[in-house]
Amino acid sequence: MNEPRLYIDGRFVDAHSPRTIDVINPATQEIIARVPHADATDVNAAVAAARRAFETAPWRDTTAQERGRILFRLAQVVRDNAARLAELETINNGKPIVESEFDIADVATCFEYYGGMATKIHGDVVPVPDNALSLALREPIGVCGQIIPWNYPLLMAAWKIAPAICAGCTVILKPAEQTPLTVLELARHFEAAGLPPGVVNIITGLGDTGAALTAHPDVDKIAFTGSAEVGKIIMRSAADTLKKISLELGGKSPNILFADADFEASVDGALFGLFINQGEVCSAGSRILVERSIYKKVVDAMVEKARGIRLGNGLDRATKMGPLVSREQLERVMAYQTVGKGEAKLALGGGRATGGELDRGLYCEPTIFYDVDNSARIAREEIFGPVAAVIPFEDEEDAIRIANDSDYGLAAAVWTRDIFRAMRTVKRLRAGIVWVNHMQPTFVEAPWGGYKQSGIGRELGKWGVEEYLHVKQVHINLNEAPIGWY
Ligand code: NAP
Ligand code: MG
Repeated sequence: MNEPRLYIDGRFVDAHSPRTIDVINPATQEIIARVPHADATDVNAAVAAARRAFETAPWRDTTAQERGRILFRLAQVVRDNAARLAELETINNGKPIVESEFDIADVATCFEYYGGMATKIHGDVVPVPDNALSLALREPIGVCGQIIPWNYPLLMAAWKIAPAICAGCTVILKPAEQTPLTVLELARHFEAAGLPPGVVNIITGLGDTGAALTAHPDVDKIAFTGSAEVGKIIMRSAADTLKKISLELGGKSPNILFADADFEASVDGALFGLFINQGEVCSAGSRILVERSIYKKVVDAMVEKARGIRLGNGLDRATKMGPLVSREQLERVMAYQTVGKGEAKLALGGGRATGGELDRGLYCEPTIFYDVDNSARIAREEIFGPVAAVIPFEDEEDAIRIANDSDYGLAAAVWTRDIFRAMRTVKRLRAGIVWVNHMQPTFVEAPWGGYKQSGIGRELGKWGVEEYLHVKQVHINLNEAPIGWY
């Protein structure tokens, strides 16, 4: 079992706080590690280390090339340890090993992408109507608190850490209480990758640990991924010190199936768009909007295919759906299954999945509700589990109206063979990410983030690094003579 330690100032250290958190394997409910529940003193120590690293050499003076090389080395460390990291991710989060392997490959790609970007960040020369040189320089924002969820543990850490290092910031990252293990494992290699002490600090804890980080006066920015509920709390708290914030929050993303779409591909896409990662995905296509003329056929085909989804321990390569991450999450999802039964018709699932090895773990049945009204709670609230709300629509106008009738606006997908319809729909959807004839593929090169209550700011691509950069205006007077005003 892991020793409970925090990673601060380049070393694993004992926490000041005596409290610990049990980390479980959701496939077996066995305790697999114990990590510290960092308190305010621990947060202070981590922030002080990050501040020191930011203000002093060597980090203050690193060149973009050096930061790029560190990121390339981190990518290599991840590749060298990919098998171990993927297995640990599955043991801690529950997801199928094949999905963990994809995630870990994406982690390496993310470090590599921002490694390449480090040398491509540059400012502008601004043409001002004066005998002067006006410059817009890009500078790191400073000390960044980063708070992440449990659904893609190491990938969410990489999405946060990589652009911050690229920009020259320093970091205090708090993983989710449920899934701290892979990022702590990666931290063992930070020194070998050339990261100076204090540049990236990892503190494990609960919501109050995150809250202490958010309230801390010496933290310049908070980057958060998680629920809209906590996002709002963070935004309020950050107001006291006017911290910069970026928020990547939840969704209730529509997946729109038009009758002219390839039938097999769209049904497959409806299932993949929702059931991947047990439905624990911020961009999950949890509202499946289906044109009336194919509605019944789609529901039947979805049920038929979803029946075949193999549940089990994620370490088994045949597994297509693992357990949910925690008992709390399973109970949340089951509560929504009960709500759904009173709001709509149930076509499949509707409860906890049991039988054989499933009895030991926190498994949930793939669940499909149909004839769901868009005003129902299961169509409005983020469930974050394998629960589909299938909603019929009459025509294109109706589909767009229902799709946009949500507090959220993270993602959407459209299935059609008609390019004009596809483009009309894409243009009118109020969402930060729109897929056409696919749902979920995500690339580090492309922007990620939401409209409406799905967030503030963008991650990934050139947009992701902007969130870690200040713009400094420099005006260099080229007139030698006095101004002559007085
Ligand atoms: P959450 O409470 O939003 O947690 C996300 C992160 O924020 C965790 O690291 C959490 O720490 C931390 N946190 C909690 N309260 C905080 C506070 N007051 N100040 C600063 N940080 C705080 O999400 P959850 O409880 O794990 O899951 C609940 C629901 O949120 C899910 O059912 C799902 O609907 C939604 N969710 C959405 C996403 C997404 O990507 N959109 C991801 C995860 C969850 P602890 O882990 O210690 O609580
Ligand atoms: Mg929580």
